Amino acid sequence: MNKYEIAVIPGDGIGNEVVPEAMRVLEAAAEIHGGLSLQWSQFSWNCEYYLKHGQMMPDDGIDTLRSFNQIFLGAVGMPGLVPDHISLWGLLIKIRRGFQQSINVRPAKLLRGLESPLKNPKDFDLIVVRENSEGEYSEVGGRIHQGSDQIAIQNAVFTRKSTERAMRYAFDLAAERRGHVTSATKSNGISHSMPFWDEVFKEVAVDYPEMNTTSTHIDALAAFFVMKPHIFDVIVASNLFGDILTDLGGAIMGSIGIAPAANLNIERKYPSMFEPVHGSAPDIMGQGVANPIGQIWTGKMMLDFMGYRELGELILGAIEDTLQAGVRTPDLGGRAKMMEVTDTIIANLKKRA
Ligand code: ATP
Ligand code: MG
Repeated sequence: MNKYEIAVIPGDGIGNEVVPEAMRVLEAAAEIHGGLSLQWSQFSWNCEYYLKHGQMMPDDGIDTLRSFNQIFLGAVGMPGLVPDHISLWGLLIKIRRGFQQSINVRPAKLLRGLESPLKNPKDFDLIVVRENSEGEYSEVGGRIHQGSDQIAIQNAVFTRKSTERAMRYAFDLAAERRGHVTSATKSNGISHSMPFWDEVFKEVAVDYPEMNTTSTHIDALAAFFVMKPHIFDVIVASNLFGDILTDLGGAIMGSIGIAPAANLNIERKYPSMFEPVHGSAPDIMGQGVANPIGQIWTGKMMLDFMGYRELGELILGAIEDTLQAGVRTPDLGGRAKMMEVTDTIIANLKKRA
């Protein structure tokens, strides 16, 4: 029996609702497998914790999490009560940085049984690999002068190490898929970092002669996401470009409520963190109508990363069976409640086993 210690941080709002649902599905999958045991430890570090203690997690929070195999997170955020930068920097970014989760992976796929908001979508099945630790979201910069002369300067930081790491991960991923990597660039407008990005991309590509590569400027790339997402396989992007593309990816899938994500420490020195794209959605919390699929699919990505890909495929198949049968939450135009969707996914999982 292979045992894995999973730290669970449900977080705020619907995070508290969808995380237990995803755990039910993962438990059912582990049972089907027979040789896999998931040991869950729950941490209630969230905005409520912040309101009580003045911080999102205890001082030794990172040390506590270090011993776990993986971290399974719902969503944090209490807009209006706790400023976004506190929930973001006090927990998510602390964990991402503390464990060098320098790659963010977000698939976007037209699931069987779903309509995309795009008019005539052909099948698309793409993955965005986003550099997650530097680039445009660096803290280098500042302000000079005052009043009407004031200037704000923000420097983007691209290290060869992290740029190359993201690119190599994208190529390795593409090698297991359809063998195509698209680089999101903007070297016609950004004069230092993006030419460097292009250079590293060309160098890394030399090591993968069997792969097809394309470099596309981010503006055109964003348009292609909407016009013809079926042309993409794996896309590698900087922190900012990746951030924007992955939200778009979630949108073209049909609902942000189904979009999964992973923050990976690909060296596997520290735990990785699996958290869906959506936020805490306070507008629908407590009604039992949150779509659990984003969190469940995120759990599938965790199993994939742990080496249980067949089990992951089984889960995705069960999700698609469920959608195709029309069991959908209101964000997808359905009338099902969250738990009904989860129950149906588990039933379909057992049928497929
Ligand atoms: P964050 O800043 O934490 O990313 P956000 O401001 O982007 O949050 P979300 O919390 O993701 O916002 O919510 C955006 C919209 O999508 C809301 O109307 C919310 O109800 C809806 N939504 C988000 N997640 C789900 C879900 N799992 N099921 C149904 N609707 C969802
Ligand atoms: Mg958001």
